[in-house]
Formats: sequence, structure tokens, C-alpha cells
Amino acid sequence: MPHLQPGATIGILGGGQLGRMLAMAAARLGLKTHVYAPEADSPAFDVAAVHTVGSFDDADALADFAENVDVATYEFENVPAGSVAVLAQLCPVRPGPAALEASQDRLAEKEFLASLGIETAAFVSVEDAGALIRAVAKLGRPSILKTRRFGYDGKGQIAIREGSDLAASFRSLGGAPAILESVVPFAKEISVIAARTLDGSFAAYDATENVHVNHILSTSRAPAAVDPACAAAAVAAARKIAEALEYVGVIGVEMFVVEESATGQKIVVNEIAPRVHNSGHWTLDGAVCSQFEQHIRAIAGWPLGSTARHGAMVRMHNLLGDEVHTFAALLAEPGACVHLYGKTPARPGRKMGHVTRIFSKYQA
Ligand code: AMP
Repeated sequence: MPHLQPGATIGILGGGQLGRMLAMAAARLGLKTHVYAPEADSPAFDVAAVHTVGSFDDADALADFAENVDVATYEFENVPAGSVAVLAQLCPVRPGPAALEASQDRLAEKEFLASLGIETAAFVSVEDAGALIRAVAKLGRPSILKTRRFGYDGKGQIAIREGSDLAASFRSLGGAPAILESVVPFAKEISVIAARTLDGSFAAYDATENVHVNHILSTSRAPAAVDPACAAAAVAAARKIAEALEYVGVIGVEMFVVEESATGQKIVVNEIAPRVHNSGHWTLDGAVCSQFEQHIRAIAGWPLGSTARHGAMVRMHNLLGDEVHTFAALLAEPGACVHLYGKTPARPGRKMGHVTRIFSKYQA
């Protein structure tokens, strides 16, 4: 892929807040964006030079889009692989299809991680209710049943506990192909946001510690309060994954930290996000080059920026649902960096914005 010149157009599939922040980062670097999304009120449309309202299975509309962009990327991983294949015939798509395939299907994802020697929760494929009975006999209870596809923010999963009715549990996920996972006894959840370029250069931000409420990310802080060896192992795992996928762009890898009395902290990988990630929002105000700019640089064929952190610690808090109505107080707070996504209405749990604070001392 040739290096883009300022003035070139980046196509973004998906019009949510991630697309919006990617488009703003591109504009800062003199690049235009064309956002393609199914919803007419997509927040990214407000900040893009061009937008198209179209479904992800409209091959003609996607072909028109591809003809008008210099490189295409996506801001969420559930873009149908077939649509990406159509695009890839017509323009460069970064990251490429391998990353989407590995992350769209939880079974393929775990098998891929296992092939790299990266530890995950123990898992068994579950195609029907009978397979679930056998899987529970193998992994025990409690365990977690997850649909293989289209799960996010805790959707498409159900805990299997003592007394759970297995046939009803399988039906509750719509009878879709699933996997059963063992419960990882984690002490913390962390993520690594990293970037890789076409020529193989790699950069990672500090491992980030994440707190979820009702399965939705609430707060992230960087650096994570983990042993240096654990943080290094987390970055090494992200690098191994990015290299195996010949990845181009920003990748988010979600991990559990497990305390082991004999060997200390170890990491267990939960999920790969082939895109910029909510737990990397702190980099907008808290790092020299944000994850959004980093992704744009990587897919433009430009050098990566510095991942150095400002301050001793950076904390990001998501404004979920009604929390967004506190924006005026947050704006009045010295040092609070407020980001609002321009979304309405403020439904419970909906990601409406975030606020980042930079601290000169590390706080527990
Ligand atoms: P996921 O949809 O896989 O990202 O899972 C959402 C959240 O559920 C994770 O961030 C964890 O808090 C929890 N979770 C998912 N899988 C497991 C597991 N195997 N063991 C323990 N907790 C899990």
C-alpha cells in the first residue's frame, strides 16, 4: 500500500463514537474521512467530510464507498466478513480480514490464541443442548455459556450455576452455536492497546486496568497496578497476536490477571478487539499520541507516534446513560478532560461520553 498523502480519504465502516474519534484524529492530520454506517443518526457523521447511510450487506453501496476512499478501516468487529471481502477487492482494508475472522467467532479466537501458546479460559464448543450437557460435565459449574458470534458488553452470555437448567440456558441464547468457558478466578482485568504498521514496527501503551459494571466498562486507569513482569507479559502477548495476524492498525487485547501463589501474576487472554478500544480512551488526553491518531497513522502507512504517558497516572471514566447530564459540573472541574459523543437519547448503560483526569501522583 502506498503511503497516503495529506488530503487523502480514509473510509470508516461504522459510525459510533469510535468512528467519530477516529475521524477527528484524521482531520488533525489533514486527512478526510468518509463514514459508512447503517444508522442515519450516527455520531461519526457529524465530524466526517462525507458519509453514506447504507447497510453492511449492500454490495453496490459498499463498492461506491470503496471507489471513493484511499484505504478503508472499521470501528467495530461485527462488520460481516463478506462485506469486508467485497471491499478488499476494491481498496486496501486495514486491518485485514484475518483479524476480523479471528475476533468475530469466540471459538476461532480461542483456538487461534491456543495455537500461539497464549493461555485462555478452558473452553468447549457447544452446538446444541446435548453438547452443553457434555461440556458442563467437563468444565463443571460455575461456567459461562457465550454465543460464538455477535457478543459484546456481556450480551450473548449466561452464567451456568448449580441448579441452572441447561436446556433453558441454551435456548435463552437463541439456540445459536456457542462455547462454554470455565470461570477465570481473576484478581483484575487489564487490556493492552497496541499498534503495528505494514513494515512490522510495533508500539504499545501502558497496560490499562479496567473496572466493568454490569459487564460495561466503567473506569480505566493507566498504568495498571500489576507487577512489571505481568505488564511485560501482557504487552508480549499483544505483540505475538498482532504479528501472527500480520496486523495493521490499533488492536485491543482484553486480559484477566490471575494471582498464583507459586509464580505470581499471570495473564489469561479473554478477547481480541481488532480496532481502537474503549479502554484506550485515556490516551486522547493522557498520551503523546492517542490510540485514534495511532490507528490513522498505521493505516495511512505513516510512522507510529509516541505512546508515552502524561503524568504518573491517568484515569478515564465512561459517562453511561444519565451520567452524561453531569457534564456541566465536569466542565467546571479544573483538569477534567470532557468528551461528549453527541448521542441521544441517554438510554441506561449507553456510552454517551467520557472524562479523563491526569494525576501527578499514582493513586490506588
Ligand atoms: P466478554 O463479553 O467476553 O468480554 O465478557 C464480559 C465480561 O464478563 C468480562 O470483562 C469479565 O468481567 C466477564 N467474563 C467473561 N468471561 C469470563 C470468564 N471466562 N471468567 C470470568 N469472567 C469472565
